[in-house]
Amino acid sequence: MNTFVELGLSKQALARLKGIGFTEPTEIQSKAIRPMLDGCDVMASAQTGSGKTAAYALPVIDRLGKRAKTCRALVLLPTRELALQVKAEFERFGAHGQIKTSVLYGGTGYGNQTRELRAGPDVIVATPGRLLDFIQRRMVDLSTVEMLILDEADRLLDLGFAPQIRKVIERVPTRRQTAMFSATFDLRVERLAKEYLTDPVRVGVCAKRIEPASIEQQFHKTNEDEKDALLLKLISDAGQGSILVFTRTRRKAKKVAARLRAAAVEAQEIHGDVSQNKRETTLDHYRKGKFNVLVATDVAARGLDIPTISHVVNYDLPQSPSDYVHRIGRTGRAGRSGCSHTFVCDSDHGSLRQIEKIVGRTLMSRPISAPLSSIKRAPRRHFGRRPASR
Ligand code: ADP
Ligand code: MG
Repeated sequence: MNTFVELGLSKQALARLKGIGFTEPTEIQSKAIRPMLDGCDVMASAQTGSGKTAAYALPVIDRLGKRAKTCRALVLLPTRELALQVKAEFERFGAHGQIKTSVLYGGTGYGNQTRELRAGPDVIVATPGRLLDFIQRRMVDLSTVEMLILDEADRLLDLGFAPQIRKVIERVPTRRQTAMFSATFDLRVERLAKEYLTDPVRVGVCAKRIEPASIEQQFHKTNEDEKDALLLKLISDAGQGSILVFTRTRRKAKKVAARLRAAAVEAQEIHGDVSQNKRETTLDHYRKGKFNVLVATDVAARGLDIPTISHVVNYDLPQSPSDYVHRIGRTGRAGRSGCSHTFVCDSDHGSLRQIEKIVGRTLMSRPISAPLSSIKRAPRRHFGRRPASR
């Protein structure tokens, strides 16, 4: 594998990386940075948590060079949380004052985003819907864009953003560099790439096995009535790390969070019914470890990168099997180890088979009575009425 120096990054970038503490590139970075720097179109696939953001942000920043006060790079991605995270990465990788990054996403007022746009960002990181709003308001001009990145391309399409993406791309000059980053490349992503990329360089890591390797996956046979007791037991067994619990619907997320709180567990929730501001503060507090258990729906948690998450609990199986991989990828970030616990009811067996197809192996479920985790037991805590052992 190459070093960052060998990949052709600028001295400035190397100094920043040293400051941040990235000593060597991840595999996808060592494959994607060079063609990105060369200005090629790129299709890059790598499992979640493999460092795809830096794989495009570092070369984009180097190619921008210095601040020009016009938007020269555009990153499209599926969710606000991811947008905020990517903006933060751009700010981390760029030298102070070198470039300016603006973030645009829906579900919040236009005021702050308008102010950011007035400052003339070099990079815009946006979800497609809000970006189109700003284009219609004539507040964003994409005619100066030289680099276009579609991050989490598969998720963008899953969420039905294809029409908006097309409308956005029509506004970007055809003479440009286009790159797509995705955990998976299915037929729909390929089709989009064929339309908008020119002779792309394809780089990939573990194309077949998209299942994060460092995550211990456990499955627990259960039924709806026993899920709460099982969850409480997992939480008490988990010790210090942060726990992310996924439910299928907003209603369920609310209910589960409320039940945990009733059992004296400090739990918070994020889902579509929680205001954007509240979601941001909740995530900030979760990141800082002010509370340990977060209950979320898939949309709210997509792309989250919180290194302290040690356990992901699939309280309900996800609607779409590919979400399984995304969910468990919230733990075991950047080579750390993590653990996922999936609750499986009798009616879930069809969905479980589909997940098995994606991860390419048979998934074993273990009975509830077996020891739940090899992680050292935390001191016993009191959890309300239900006996914790069932
Ligand atoms: P992906 O987009 O592939 O899911 P991210 O870009 O979110 O992954 O990166 C996952 C984590 O790995 C982040 O916390 C990021 O800061 C860290 N990371 C990325 N590249 C490196 C590297 N070369 N060395 C150490 N940590 C890295
Ligand atoms: Mg990413």
